Amino acid sequence: MSVRTRFAPSPTGFLHVGGLRTALYNYLLARQQSGQYLLRIEDTDRERLVPGAVEKLLEAFGRVNLLPDEGPRLVNGAVEQVGDVGPYIQSERLPVYQEHAKRLLDAGAAYVCFCSSERLDGLRKQQEIAKLSTKYDRHCLSLPADEVLRRSAAGEAHVLRLRVPEGETSFEDVIRGTITINNAEVDDQVLIKSDGFPTYHMAVVVDDHLMKITHVIRGEEWISSTPKHVILYRLFGWDAPLFAHLPLLLNPDKSKLSKRQGDVAVEDYLAKGYLPEALVNFVALLGFNPKADQEIYAIDELIELFDLTKINKSGAVFDQAKLNWMNGQYVMKKTSAELVALVRPFLDAAGKTIDAALLEKICAIEKTRMERLTDIVEIVDAYVSVPAFDPAILVWKKADAADSKANLVGVRDHLSTVEETVWTEIGLVEASIKAYIESKGLSNGNVLWPTRVALSGRAASPSPFELAWALGKDETMRRLDGAIASLAT
Ligand code: GLU
Repeated sequence: MSVRTRFAPSPTGFLHVGGLRTALYNYLLARQQSGQYLLRIEDTDRERLVPGAVEKLLEAFGRVNLLPDEGPRLVNGAVEQVGDVGPYIQSERLPVYQEHAKRLLDAGAAYVCFCSSERLDGLRKQQEIAKLSTKYDRHCLSLPADEVLRRSAAGEAHVLRLRVPEGETSFEDVIRGTITINNAEVDDQVLIKSDGFPTYHMAVVVDDHLMKITHVIRGEEWISSTPKHVILYRLFGWDAPLFAHLPLLLNPDKSKLSKRQGDVAVEDYLAKGYLPEALVNFVALLGFNPKADQEIYAIDELIELFDLTKINKSGAVFDQAKLNWMNGQYVMKKTSAELVALVRPFLDAAGKTIDAALLEKICAIEKTRMERLTDIVEIVDAYVSVPAFDPAILVWKKADAADSKANLVGVRDHLSTVEETVWTEIGLVEASIKAYIESKGLSNGNVLWPTRVALSGRAASPSPFELAWALGKDETMRRLDGAIASLAT
């Protein structure tokens, strides 16, 4: 039987980083086993409907390159569905759920309930006061069939409830082992709501079965729902899929990752200059690391090494500093031309126009220092015009102002005579300055420190060779002259 997994988000309007991890694990397993990975939109909660949410979600999936083999996709801005066991959007499948609900009703495994929300609220309050578990009291379980017919025909609002059988329910969680629950603790769950829409529990079971899902990989928050699902599988006479409940994502203080403590939307991370592939690598390791001594994994490696049984049970801390580092590793591996294309939108958004050739040089020499693409917005400033700086930082720790000034004059005079071709390569600039230092019997530190600061205006920056190459002859000379003039000796 071919492995089929699915990611089944409710369209909230954004893709949560936890959702990205769930989707990714489903994708990795399906790819590894040459199976299929499906996307299904669970939009049966009509009260929480967010306009445009499905499109936004699909757009985010496109950006992180986790498009499903089956399910909805965005084609020229419109939602199209791929695959033949759809529709993959639950609100488009209502007759399927209703037909299955009827089967349960006919078999006596479900019953119609007319209780008003006022009655249910009152019941819950009483149970809370009496410190009992809050459960439906089966008030409508034994209504005569003709009364049910009469009242529903008269248009009285009603729901369909699961009649939870007696006994125990067990299931095997790939990550957590066997979980057993006494059915007495399970509520007679609503299966079909008064608006005719199925609840999550009903829809998820019917769909996972009809879509031939073999592995349900989802967040830990769904564990308590799983016994209800297993009961439904049994009542329908179906085999349940394998379940794997992923550990919670935590803030560094071990609280549940929440919007209050920072961003949780993939879209926000992308907007803040994180690369999709870095984000994917980072979330892959939240709760799973195939090798103790490795952090950077290409997607193909993750596919090869993924192992559901090696996922941790305990919560995974979302470490922002690690994400920044990891993103920097991916930025570093880009070619300068790739980086130019990636950073340009951030510069445009900041209203900064910059010459393409200069930007490519900046990217070439700054990429090892960048963590996020947005870093470029500040970085370019020092290339467009030298930042104001305290001339005291021109003086190397083993020198004085007079020495620094003399060395700056020397470098300037040397560079003013070199051939034009020297400016075309970092290596040529470096060789030329180093040959000059050697020919004069000078020390590297005395010459290179003030030169670097004169060109960058910063105490920490790329090397003077890289800076001179990026700035070109005219700007290099201008900056050296400015620094010389600022050293009053
Ligand atoms: N619709 C649920 C969610 O929003 C899906 C849970 C599941 O995967 O079964 O996460």
